[in-house]
Amino acid sequence: MTFEHVENVQHVEETAVRRRDAAVRAAVERGLLSEAQPVVALLDTAGIRDSAARLRAAFAAVTDAPVLHAFAVKAAPLVPVLALLNAAGIGAEVASPGELALARAAGVPAERTVLDSPAKTPGELREALDAGIALNADNPQEVARLDALVAGRGALPPLGVRVNPQIGAGSIGALSTATATSKFGVALRDEGAREAVVRMYLDRPWLTRLHTHSGSQGVPLARMVEGVREVYALAEEINAAAGRRQVDTVDIGGGLPVNFASDEESPTYAEYARLLKDAVPGLLDGRYGLVTEFGRSLVAKHGAVLARVEYAKESGSRPIAITHAGVQVATRTVYAPASWPLRIAAYDGAGRPKTGTPVVQDVAGPACFAGDLLAEGRALPPLEQGDVVAALDTGAYYFSNHYGYNSLPRPAVYGYEGGSFALVRAAQSTAEIVAESGGAQADALL
Ligand SMILES: *Cc1c(COP(=O)(O)O)cnc(C)c1O
Repeated sequence: MTFEHVENVQHVEETAVRRRDAAVRAAVERGLLSEAQPVVALLDTAGIRDSAARLRAAFAAVTDAPVLHAFAVKAAPLVPVLALLNAAGIGAEVASPGELALARAAGVPAERTVLDSPAKTPGELREALDAGIALNADNPQEVARLDALVAGRGALPPLGVRVNPQIGAGSIGALSTATATSKFGVALRDEGAREAVVRMYLDRPWLTRLHTHSGSQGVPLARMVEGVREVYALAEEINAAAGRRQVDTVDIGGGLPVNFASDEESPTYAEYARLLKDAVPGLLDGRYGLVTEFGRSLVAKHGAVLARVEYAKESGSRPIAITHAGVQVATRTVYAPASWPLRIAAYDGAGRPKTGTPVVQDVAGPACFAGDLLAEGRALPPLEQGDVVAALDTGAYYFSNHYGYNSLPRPAVYGYEGGSFALVRAAQSTAEIVAESGGAQADALL
């Protein structure tokens, strides 16, 4: 890394921090955060756009072949976010009828949409084929379903099979998709599996893609690269056996990890693309188109949850700030704090960064169970009633993936840019909670 590059990266990060601090201040001043709305989520629109541009540039620098970047919708299932990414040249990777509907509502075209899911129904498969949406079959039974569905059709969308290179786990078991016994894809190293996959392709000229996704947060880059290398080798093997370029596109999945420890964005897309270029040059020499499916790395660092400190108390001489952000917006952190620690930033009641000698304290949420903690034993400036805390790096898989414990409402989400806010998702109202909880059927069980 050159000195200028370091300077430049630091500059980008400092700018993002300044933007965030200004947005917190403005959110408080404009009443986005209030007694009535004591928790709200913010997205840094410019930050998301920058990440999208960096992703595209990173791969354009290593291959001349077409690359479809499809955002993994589950990371931030919010229509305006999908539309923003679509406008930035990023499509959508969907894994359920709901996610497909979100991508369509955002205007993502069929040719930039990819359907992956381990449990697609015949109806979902038919709909994808009708709509011209690429899909990756998870297993031989799904391929057999496709046999029946593609028969007699004219033009087909790109179709592939997901394989599991069984390269092993990362540091978070629940997110490691390439273990020996993972539920995803065809396990390539199982007895006879590789030969069966090659046969599967030779028998079906309409299988033109190969897909893998080696896992998300916690899987080191080198292991992700190894997974891609395995899949590239399989593509070459299939094409050699077919005597033609049957597999024309390799879908390498997503999974670039996110740094939750500081404002630094690392690793970068550029680093990953360079590692791929070094380790799997044949994949990037222009013969293969690529699909990527990054989720968290595009949005995680651009989101924050703001919450008011309702009370500040002490228990067993441990100071505890009781806030409005807990398990409903930070489910993974609350249930698996060792795997998913979040940075907390402290602001005063006017939205100014808090100073003051840090003291070790807990930052708790509003839910009724003891483990509802955003941070335990964290050194922060002493938090007081009326202060604001921000849970950082929560743009992916946090506030967008609400958990309805205690009937706590989904908070509003705003995008911020240049001093103004745009509503992305309205807060869920109490009336909506009642309606979604069978309110219209109050007498159903009497
Ligand atoms: C979840 C998922 C992704 C995205 O993973 P990130 O870690 O958010 O980048 C991509 N592809 C598939 C198949 C997935 O299940």
